[in-house]
Amino acid sequence: MIGNGMTRRTFIEAGGGVATASLAMAASPAAALLQSGGATVKGQPLPDGVKLPTVAPKRKRPDSVGFAIVGLGGYALNQMMPRFDQAERAHIAAIVSGNPNKLTRVGDAYGVPADARYSYEDFAKIASDDRIDAVYIVLPTGLHAEWVTRAFAARKHVLCEKPMALSSAECARMIAAGQRAKRKLMIAYRSHFEPYNLEAMKLMQQKAAGDIRLVRTEQSYRMGPTSPSQNWRTSRALAGGGPLEDYGIYGLQSALYLTGEMPESISATTFRPTGDPRFAEIFAHVASQWRFPSGAVAQLVTSYDSAGTNFAHVRGTTGALIMDPATSYSGQKMRLEGRDDREFTPGDPSVQFARQLDHFADAVRDNAAIRTPGEMGLRDLRLIEAIYAAAADGRTVKLAPDGTMRG
Ligand code: NDP
Repeated sequence: MIGNGMTRRTFIEAGGGVATASLAMAASPAAALLQSGGATVKGQPLPDGVKLPTVAPKRKRPDSVGFAIVGLGGYALNQMMPRFDQAERAHIAAIVSGNPNKLTRVGDAYGVPADARYSYEDFAKIASDDRIDAVYIVLPTGLHAEWVTRAFAARKHVLCEKPMALSSAECARMIAAGQRAKRKLMIAYRSHFEPYNLEAMKLMQQKAAGDIRLVRTEQSYRMGPTSPSQNWRTSRALAGGGPLEDYGIYGLQSALYLTGEMPESISATTFRPTGDPRFAEIFAHVASQWRFPSGAVAQLVTSYDSAGTNFAHVRGTTGALIMDPATSYSGQKMRLEGRDDREFTPGDPSVQFARQLDHFADAVRDNAAIRTPGEMGLRDLRLIEAIYAAAADGRTVKLAPDGTMRG
């Protein structure tokens, strides 16, 4: 037994193949416990510019779902934690971090009791903390599979950040762990709760641009000087191939929910410059071309080395839907060109964070269906694997309707 009720076998299964080697080489059982696929939890400094709240959180209704936030990084502190106040049915019950100073500062600011502030080493103790109903995993991607599995071992529900994990095999294990624990698993695909993207889905279903023929998505930004030891987003063990998993996944998702189809074939190309420490382990650009059963085609581009952009364009037989920016935290713009020229302002995009939390809370409390379940995360990892396989082999990969590669 390794600990936390996990046998050596289940732990290795949770962490993926590379864990086998790192586990065997680990100097101590504690070190082994904190490793997964070559990735290890490690507390980080408080990100620059974080504004911590100065007023106590609002009191919530009695059936509000208590979350333990795991990983107090930029997204948790700048975006999600401040939004709990806007949620009807979700509150921060506990925090988990590898940085004791952050546990104190963030815990004090959010009114988290001292005995609900956990280190990674103490994580298993959340099992007996009834204030915690659910765990929100906001760790680097390469750590999702292991810590989601640990949260299920503690019999908590799990909201996991995107991308779900680094491989479809990890996703399948995470789903199985949730089923064994009889607990909910939701992937934090916030665009499914954002008014512009919801309106766009509706418009495309209503054929507002006619029958869809062409889709183009682009998500990129230029990463400053860094290296895998300085920034997890450039580490293969923590980020996989890089921009596709992190940012291009928004374009991948848009192409799926705007067309309402799964691709039947994918071709792709990747680029990794030599001699640039940013791209020692990850790709700089990933581009893929998809063909859908309807005959529509999509072109998806993502990059960590070109000026910022985030758009989705859908061109149909009678017009085009232009979303630019398409999936930001705020500031979305959307128009329909063609027969029916129109600018859309369906609502404030910033509601997406709290609505996502309330949606998950409804699943936990009322057994409501989850719009973005683990199966969706698994589907997306299958497509990401198909993109990399197509690029590596220089061939068109054919896909089954569930996204698995044929042949
Ligand atoms: P950060 O680097 O800002 O924070 C990650 C946090 O994870 C760290 O602060 C640290 O918290 C903890 N951590 C544990 N082990 C490690 C390690 N080995 N290396 C680095 N950090 C570690 O990342 P983000 O907050 O930007 O991203 C976290 C997750 O959220 C990712 O899955 C990302 O894809 C997702 N995300 C989602 C977004 C969305 O719009 N839905 C936007 C941005 C990110 P501590 O010090 O407390 O232990």
